Amino acid sequence: MSMRVVVVGGGIGGLALGAGLRRGGYQVAVFDRDTDVTATGGYHITLDQRAQSALERLVAPEIMRRLLASGSALRLRERDAFWDRRGRLLGHGPDLTGSASIDVDRITLRTLLAEAVGEDLHLGRDVSGVDHDEHGRPRVAFADGTSVTADLVVGADGTHSVVARHLAAGPTNRPAGIIGFSGRTRRADLSPAEQRRLGPRSALAIGPRGAALYIGFLDPVGNAALDAPELRMSVTTGPTYIWGAMFPESAQTESLRDLHGAQLQTALLDRFRARGWADRTLEVIARADPASVAAYRFNAASTRATDLAPWNAGRITALGDAVHATPPTAGMGAGAAIRDAADLLDQLTATIDGTTTLADAVGRFEAGMRQRGGEVLTLAMKTVRLILATDTTLGAAATAVATPILAAATRLRR
Ligand SMILES: Cc1cc2nc3c(=O)[nH]c(=O)nc-3n(C[C@H](O)[C@H](O)[C@H](O)COP(=O)(O)OP(=O)(O)OC[C@H]3O[C@@H](n4cnc5c(N)ncnc54)[C@H](O)[C@@H]3O)c2cc1C
Repeated sequence: MSMRVVVVGGGIGGLALGAGLRRGGYQVAVFDRDTDVTATGGYHITLDQRAQSALERLVAPEIMRRLLASGSALRLRERDAFWDRRGRLLGHGPDLTGSASIDVDRITLRTLLAEAVGEDLHLGRDVSGVDHDEHGRPRVAFADGTSVTADLVVGADGTHSVVARHLAAGPTNRPAGIIGFSGRTRRADLSPAEQRRLGPRSALAIGPRGAALYIGFLDPVGNAALDAPELRMSVTTGPTYIWGAMFPESAQTESLRDLHGAQLQTALLDRFRARGWADRTLEVIARADPASVAAYRFNAASTRATDLAPWNAGRITALGDAVHATPPTAGMGAGAAIRDAADLLDQLTATIDGTTTLADAVGRFEAGMRQRGGEVLTLAMKTVRLILATDTTLGAAATAVATPILAAATRLRR
């Protein structure tokens, strides 16, 4: 009889693993507390070449085609722009024409992965704990008092993972010191001048006193990664800016967390204005759909690979944000979770002929995951540290002095 695997959490990593295991002929059950995979938060997810290759190993070609038909290709976007708080251009990011990365709506990705897992996905199941039964088999307990056992349990239950906390005997991450507020704004809702300034590209603006605004450009229709409109199932239906306002956490940002919709939007605008941001740079926030504006706290695990998954390999493991919680500042958290899933599947395959034990396979998987997690966290924390640095007296002065000089230099170069 084939190995039975229970996956706790049906977010991006858990569903990717569930899909791969099912395809590989394993007995699998994925449990998530959500009752509907589409009724979930989230905006877009970036998948680089490595994440896409991992997905190709986990899901059927048909699912992959529908994903690409719903994704926005970075190579079709203009270079990213860097702005100061007055809307002056400071410089550009690298040429994207050779990029294989795509952006896809988180809901679309989750829906497609859930379809691939099919009836092995069990929704509305809240996991309360994990342990081993009297025969040493890993066991998952649910909040309703029931439990299941398996040969292997994988915690893919995200930042506040019950499974990883059990394994590590404590939290695996902590607040990164930054709070994010996101929203979506249709390009057509901006003034013609602002549409021209922002253009079909993503952008980042950082001002003094720890205020930053990331503006991601998404167009799954005009910039489709695969030109097959009949397969498209993107939630975003036209050129859209998905923006993220970021501030260092403080008592004041904490009070913003109690606000929603239009009230939160107004409070964000006030906060930027108080820090000297020009009105035109804030149009993208002012014209957002108020219902899309929400707060997110960034949590981060250690950037040191050796700190990640600090337990001995056994029949309970974890992957994705549960182990290496990654702020969205490098757009790599979901990709890393998908790569974890593909690697775990590869390592489990090696146990089939009996030459590798399950514990060895899990050990190899965890070693690779530490490397992957450390790499993506290091990248994501660079932006977080930059934003936090502008909140110091020296950093505020440096940002205020340096950005006009950089803006002038960029204008001269053009
Ligand atoms: C609501 C939401 C919105 C997000 N939006 C974005 C975004 O716009 N851009 C971006 O780059 N990243 C976003 N992320 C983060 C990104 O999805 C993750 O970094 C990435 O997917 C890592 O995947 P993961 O599978 O490890 O965790 P996640 O995708 O976070 O999945 C964890 C899953 O575990 C489930 N779960 C947690 N605890 C339990 C429990 N006790 N019992 C049962 N189920 C449980 C959760 O319901 C969730 O579905 C979002 C995450 C969430 C949860």
